[in-house]
Amino acid sequence: MSDPVVGVLALQGDVREHLVALAATGAVARPVRRAQELDGIDGLVLPGGESTTISKLAVLFGVLDPLRARVRAGLPVYGTCAGMILLADKILDPRSGQETVGGIDMIVRRNAFGRQNESFEAAVAVRGVPGEPVEGVFIRAPWVESVGGAVEVLAEHDGHIVAVRQGDVLATSFHPELTGDHRVHALFVDMVRARAKADAL
Ligand code: GLN
Repeated sequence: MSDPVVGVLALQGDVREHLVALAATGAVARPVRRAQELDGIDGLVLPGGESTTISKLAVLFGVLDPLRARVRAGLPVYGTCAGMILLADKILDPRSGQETVGGIDMIVRRNAFGRQNESFEAAVAVRGVPGEPVEGVFIRAPWVESVGGAVEVLAEHDGHIVAVRQGDVLATSFHPELTGDHRVHALFVDMVRARAKADAL
């Protein structure tokens, strides 16, 4: 199979770091801003940044509804931090006008770690990522308050859920794109490859 094409939603946030991490795993990485750019991608990353801003820009750019439809139709998606918030079916404490893409049956609490401690790093063992724990970079990070039965919990930190997967939708509270360790992106790109292969049958 040719290399999968993985987009990064490029409305706001740390887009460039994800493009670099994806390219390092052998994917063809490209920014996505418009609905038409969703055509022809095999997977999509929702970056870290500010989830309210990203959701408002997604509405403005007319990309929110087409994106929801693609996710519902099975597009593999990976969200980090703000991206995790966007993938939650429900936000515990949304700001006004804040919408989500949805895709994971979970309730997320925004800035959950942030109030006490704006930013920190911790070793996080992630199910599905072989070898040493990954270095989790948490920046005003959310945690997952609760999950539905179809959601697999992949990692916890301090008793709080910080990585989840439901079908081909993956989310982490932390930012693997900032560490130079591309194993979480490799896990996602493997999911994208497996889905593309299954779709081609
Ligand atoms: N606290 C931010 C939000 O609500 C997320 C922070 C991040 O992505 N680093 O969107």
